[in-house]
Amino acid sequence: MTTPSTAPDATPRLRVAPSPTGDPHVGTAYMALFNLAFARQQGGRFVLRVEDTDRARFNPTSEAQLYDTLGWLGLRWDEGPDVGGPYAPYRQSERLETYRPYVERLIADGHAYHCWCSSERLAAMRDRQQKLKQPTGYDRLCHGKTREERAELEGFSETPVVRMLVPDDAPTTFEDVIRGTVSAPRPDDQVILKADGFPTYHLAVVVDDHEMGITHVVRGEEWISSTPKHVLLYQWLGLTPPRFAHMPLLRNENKSKISKRKNPWARLAWFQEQGYLPEAVVNFLGLLAYPPAKGEDGSDVEKFTFEEFSRDFAWSKVNTVGPIFDLKKLDWLNGQYIRDLELGDLTSRLVPFLQADGVLGESPTMGELARLKSIAEQIQTRVNLLSEAAPMVRPFYVADDELELAQDALDGLKDDAPAVLDAAIAALDGLHKPDGVLGENIAANQWHAPQIEAALREAIVEGMGIKPRFAFGPLRTAVSGQRISPPLFESMEILGKPSTMARLRGLRERLG
Ligand code: GLU
Repeated sequence: MTTPSTAPDATPRLRVAPSPTGDPHVGTAYMALFNLAFARQQGGRFVLRVEDTDRARFNPTSEAQLYDTLGWLGLRWDEGPDVGGPYAPYRQSERLETYRPYVERLIADGHAYHCWCSSERLAAMRDRQQKLKQPTGYDRLCHGKTREERAELEGFSETPVVRMLVPDDAPTTFEDVIRGTVSAPRPDDQVILKADGFPTYHLAVVVDDHEMGITHVVRGEEWISSTPKHVLLYQWLGLTPPRFAHMPLLRNENKSKISKRKNPWARLAWFQEQGYLPEAVVNFLGLLAYPPAKGEDGSDVEKFTFEEFSRDFAWSKVNTVGPIFDLKKLDWLNGQYIRDLELGDLTSRLVPFLQADGVLGESPTMGELARLKSIAEQIQTRVNLLSEAAPMVRPFYVADDELELAQDALDGLKDDAPAVLDAAIAALDGLHKPDGVLGENIAANQWHAPQIEAALREAIVEGMGIKPRFAFGPLRTAVSGQRISPPLFESMEILGKPSTMARLRGLRERLG
């Protein structure tokens, strides 16, 4: 056992302590963000501790996924199972020896006792208490008995657990950095060491937060009811407790808790798969429990970087009301981030999505990437998610005779579509883009969006008297196969003249 290291003036040390029980939860990133923001602001340390003492729910792939998803968000830890650190090991299953002396001391001091009750007996006891509308909790049958004495009685199980002996007058209030004085129900005789020799969360969290010098325990409000147990353990062990801060739980619009069973977005990996940008997700998670900053004109500034968030962070501003997880807001915010990306950056972020959708091959050529950059420029204001780009980009990478025309685009064509196509073909035929024009010949290159637009407007809007809103629908369908596409004239420019003409002619022939 080490001496308390959580003196008030100690360098702040914060941690996130997820349990590897499945796909990482978005709540873990939300907690990591607030812990990390404060740690960075204070020049402190941020620790990742893996709380894997629940062996029944342990999932062996979960820890790697945790590294991937938190790493993707850029929420980096200074110490953890993968990077090590002065308080290693950071996986609780590797720290069983650390917990043992603490348990022995609690038993020796009369604060904890062995309990041999079988799970059947405990279940029957709970049923009885519920039927009689009594408070549920352990009835202390084993307390004060030796193994032999207890073995004489019903519901005996060979391997004991260890329970806390919680006095009637145990303190039930504690100070919370966000909430002030908080009261919680009186704990019952909580198990601290399980029959399999593993500590429960309650003991392990106290021992590790102490041993690892954690100064601030920032976690979800679902742990408020556990905190009095932890405070008691600190007291019994003569340790200085850390400061506690309980963050509001993330909720659905109907106020229910978000869960991986009901909400796909509760899985952190979902955001990456959907094409959200990590910086937008981090920003969004911050906004969930933190007010937007004020701009110079007093308006809300909702877009902020992690560095800005961390610099201005104050516990007093954290909301205590359960934030609603508003995906529409996230989509909007993500769109803002996409608009602000440098074009090369947007292009490289699009590549994996286009590869996943089969638009690009495994190793795109320089030419394909250069073309993608021009396309990215055209769609930058039109997508909110990276995954929305594939249908807009695909037409640029398929052979002209393999372009699929979407049914809704075909259905939207009016009777004048053949005439519009004829006029467009004639007008564009007059425009010329010699291959490989460079230098002084550039003026001869008329296959540019402004010239294309001018020629088509003259032929269709002015020549045929069709309103621009309707004039270009058939051309869009012919060129992109979609009703909604990147800007038409720019698309034609990127596609080049031969492809554009082939596609216009293709649709014209199809319409008969
Ligand atoms: N292992 C707990 C969890 O999965 C950690 C709670 C805490 O931060 O104390 O959320």
